[in-house]
Amino acid sequence: MNCFYHPDKPAIGLCKYCQRGLCIECAAIVDDVIACKGRHEDEVRQLEQLTARNLFQSRRVASAYNRNAIFYGLVGVLFSGFGIMQYRFLGLQAMFFILIGLFLLYAATANYFEGRKHK
Ligand SMILES: [Zn+2]
Ligand SMILES: [Zn+2]
Repeated sequence: MNCFYHPDKPAIGLCKYCQRGLCIECAAIVDDVIACKGRHEDEVRQLEQLTARNLFQSRRVASAYNRNAIFYGLVGVLFSGFGIMQYRFLGLQAMFFILIGLFLLYAATANYFEGRKHK
């Protein structure tokens, strides 16, 4: 493949914005990717910033879900464990704790899988 602007020169890469072949003279490096020099440098910079921001945000969302999953999981184990241990003394009232625990464990699992979706 040859340069789009200089058909006699071999292309060294593609502009990330317009996908045209670029020779060493026409290629500008913007944030580790190639852009048409003087034409698409700004566009590629914006494109890169957008992807970087999206990556950052989805990672943040995923870690928030994971934090929630751990929190719900721990409290859920605490509640259901307490309910199971006290079942002999509290009877049906202990079921209340076990149910809350199970509900929290369910919330933890839901958060965990939701977090995995964002990875
Ligand atoms: Zn271009
Ligand atoms: Zn060129």
